Amino acid sequence: MNGNECYVCGCPGIICNICKQIYFCSYHETSHKRNEYCYPYKINQSPEAGHYYIATRDIQPMELILMEKPAVTGPYTKTRPQCLGCAKTSALPHLCQGCNYPLCSQQCEHGDHQVECTIFQKAGYKAQVKNLKAEDPLYAAITVIRLLDLRDSNPTAYEHLLYLEHHNDHRREDEPDLWEYHQRHVVDFIKQVMEVNEDEINQILGAMFTNSIDLELPLGYGRANGFYPVYAFMNHNCRSNTKTFKLSDQRLEVRAQVFIRKGEEISTQYVQSMKPTFIRRPMLSNKWYFECNCERCTDPTECGSFISALLCKSVKCGGPVVPEDPTDGESTWKCLVCSTPIDTNFVIQIVSILTSQIENPDRRFDPVIYFEKLLALYSKVLHPNHFLNYQMKEKLSIFYGNIPNFNLKTMTRPLLDRKIQVCSDVISLSQLLDPGYHKMREKIKGELNKTQLVTVKSDVDKGYIPRERYQKTLIEMRNLQLEREKFANLFSNS
Ligand SMILES: [Zn+2]
Ligand SMILES: [Zn+2]
Ligand SMILES: [Zn+2]
Ligand SMILES: [Zn+2]
Ligand SMILES: [Zn+2]
Ligand SMILES: [Zn+2]
Repeated sequence: MNGNECYVCGCPGIICNICKQIYFCSYHETSHKRNEYCYPYKINQSPEAGHYYIATRDIQPMELILMEKPAVTGPYTKTRPQCLGCAKTSALPHLCQGCNYPLCSQQCEHGDHQVECTIFQKAGYKAQVKNLKAEDPLYAAITVIRLLDLRDSNPTAYEHLLYLEHHNDHRREDEPDLWEYHQRHVVDFIKQVMEVNEDEINQILGAMFTNSIDLELPLGYGRANGFYPVYAFMNHNCRSNTKTFKLSDQRLEVRAQVFIRKGEEISTQYVQSMKPTFIRRPMLSNKWYFECNCERCTDPTECGSFISALLCKSVKCGGPVVPEDPTDGESTWKCLVCSTPIDTNFVIQIVSILTSQIENPDRRFDPVIYFEKLLALYSKVLHPNHFLNYQMKEKLSIFYGNIPNFNLKTMTRPLLDRKIQVCSDVISLSQLLDPGYHKMREKIKGELNKTQLVTVKSDVDKGYIPRERYQKTLIEMRNLQLEREKFANLFSNS
């Protein structure tokens, strides 16, 4: 090591002429800068922590930290037929002249599909896709073939792939059926069309499973994932300091969520932040095979949010009931005020019953009435900040004012006040656990503002408050609106 190695891959590099801090190889130049803007991170490595991101300077909230194009995208291993050019599922009338896979048009023979098509042609393989509506294992190997092809087309990205965790031993044990499916439809299939050994196929397949990201495709498209080799080195934290955005052209953008000091680790969030620890941790360990012991996971109150708390049933107590050890799924739950325990099974039962009531609302009721009733029904059992209360309030903050029986213009004052209350509750709780830009929260802030405007106007009309107050509110609202647009523009310009 002489200090001139590329900051991502360790190959011989040249120093950046702008920041004079980072060495990069020709392949990783674009991971460090774009249009004369140096991304403010570097990647360190240690035997204990593996690869991790460090801020190279102070980073302001919403600043861009990384933008990456996927090295490979492709269908899930289990999927119904989709165009191998553009992922459309709706109409696939064209059969590829090279390999016989159904595509939406001749144009889609070129581009991404060329990778496997060339390989299929060399091997003399022609696909026979029979039913366009049913899941078909002939799609299982496509993305893995594209990843294996990086070995020749992009050796640095391929080397990355080989560094990454694959967790094959765990997966073979935990999901024997899926493992079997992959052996037949991915490993055995690829061995027939490419020269590559079984271990390598499994390693790439495992790395894909652990490190790929779901792509957000519009309706009429199939399910696909993307591999972002540089992003893959960023570690998870349940209260991460960045936010990841998937752009419509499949680029990935990582932006600071809060102020990040130079030298601090930069982290990402793999699971939804508004889910409680007893849901997040098992998800992390099932998919990524690690036990998260971050600050939030080890705190029974989840950073003071009480998002998983129930309420104590002892006479006159009503204190928050939380798990004694949140990292133990079998932990006892106890009241923080009077220490009265409650049965863990009761917690599980409440959550599963209410989840199903939220997901399958009784259509005979107006949704506002339905969710208000549920909230009231559970108000003595669940902490006001409980994540299921949060979910219901999030729905209500939109329903109030936007559905036929609850039109903003005709809503009574108590209903307007109720809308303001649910919006405020949702905004403050999500702000605590998920600060920075948040699409849904921005929408709810808009709902809150327009409701406040209506109430202020009515107070002015009734002479309760002076007219200047209304003018002032209008200006405040306009400024908030501009602020929101500024955020929205950030994403359309980049
Ligand atoms: Zn490099
Ligand atoms: Zn630079
Ligand atoms: Zn297509
Ligand atoms: Zn083809
Ligand atoms: Zn955690
Ligand atoms: Zn109590």
